[in-house]
Amino acid sequence: MKVYKFGGASVKSAEGIRNILRIVSGVEDNLFVVVSAMGKTTNAMEVVLEHFMKTDKAEALIKLQEVELYHEDIIRELFLKPENGLNAVKPLFHELTTYINYGLADDYDRCYDFLVSYGEVISTSIVSAFLVESNIENRWLDMRKLLVTDSNFREANVRMDESSFRLKAAANFDGNRIYIGQGFIGSNINGDPTTLGREGSDYTAAVVGNLLDADSVSIWKDVPGILNADPRIFENTILIPELTYLDAVELAFSGAQIIHPKTIKPLENKGIPLYVRPFGSPSEAGSVIKATTANPIDIPVLILRKNLVLITIRPRDFSFVLEDSLSKAFAVFNKHRLKISLIQSSAISISVCVDNSRYLKAALDELSSDFRVSYNTDLELLTIRGTNDRIISETTSDRTIMLSQRTRRIARFLLKMEN
Ligand code: ASP
Ligand code: MG
Repeated sequence: MKVYKFGGASVKSAEGIRNILRIVSGVEDNLFVVVSAMGKTTNAMEVVLEHFMKTDKAEALIKLQEVELYHEDIIRELFLKPENGLNAVKPLFHELTTYINYGLADDYDRCYDFLVSYGEVISTSIVSAFLVESNIENRWLDMRKLLVTDSNFREANVRMDESSFRLKAAANFDGNRIYIGQGFIGSNINGDPTTLGREGSDYTAAVVGNLLDADSVSIWKDVPGILNADPRIFENTILIPELTYLDAVELAFSGAQIIHPKTIKPLENKGIPLYVRPFGSPSEAGSVIKATTANPIDIPVLILRKNLVLITIRPRDFSFVLEDSLSKAFAVFNKHRLKISLIQSSAISISVCVDNSRYLKAALDELSSDFRVSYNTDLELLTIRGTNDRIISETTSDRTIMLSQRTRRIARFLLKMEN
């Protein structure tokens, strides 16, 4: 069997969903289709949540209605008989309305997962109903009932053993060839919905591929494949046809937005190839990530990770940081889920570069009790793999470099963000 994953950009319009129909119709194998929320729905649901948490129910309901109208417009354009789609989503918006009216705005992360996970439930309901209307038999699955995760709300990790039994029982391909399930969501052992981290649908696809022993996993994207740099930022990008799992982990860690960092491990464990394929031209090969390649990457790869913060801490008493403070500091970073992308230390200070997240302030406060803390915001990290002096000067010469690190193969520059 194969796993196909379609991201938010692929399902943002009626035209995109028709393209999914075309791609899925061409597959003769058994198929598990993983779908993200449509377009910017996850962001829109985050706005609904903000109002819900402020207990501004009226405003939360207005924002929810905007989400509903967006989906209804797509349904009316897409379906031959719009009722087929409208009937599929009506009960879901009813559940959301009930939650907003009567739910308790207590723990932010828990409420986030309950509300925001509906983006995927809605999108898959529409895609599944549309395929049925188009005579493509399929079965819709509720991944909240099939993927068991830990209770790390908003960044949950799938528990493979517990999920395996449920997923295999539900997607056994007995009398049914195509399953449609949500990316990004699951639930903990108590059945509370969880989400796997923003852009986490790739991770879902990899988990499904692992648990169902897929021949391959394909992520359909609005790019030709994996490029050596983000074409929105850099000119003259080049397609990389083959990468190893290790290459992919390195790129994802450095901030390449092409695949979610957690995607590789479940695939690597079973040696399942991951294809990144162009949604707009399905006959093109795109890129493949696998255990080994005959053609190592021989062009420089540039990755820009934005909106970072550089935190520098010093023990208050001039003790050497590397000796006993390090584990204390890292425990704080870990507790507040700060994602570290670079570390540099000296005799009396340690600097780490982390994503600017809503947990940052709490972490800084906690660090302040043991350390003198300073920090800079609005930074970006440029990683150049397969580096050379010409590229370095082209990309950094007119920039303010806050910190740099260089090995033979990789150069990393922490830069002030431009405007
Ligand atoms: N819908 C979620 C997000 O936008 C998950 C995903 O797209 O992979 O973050
Ligand atoms: Mg998305």
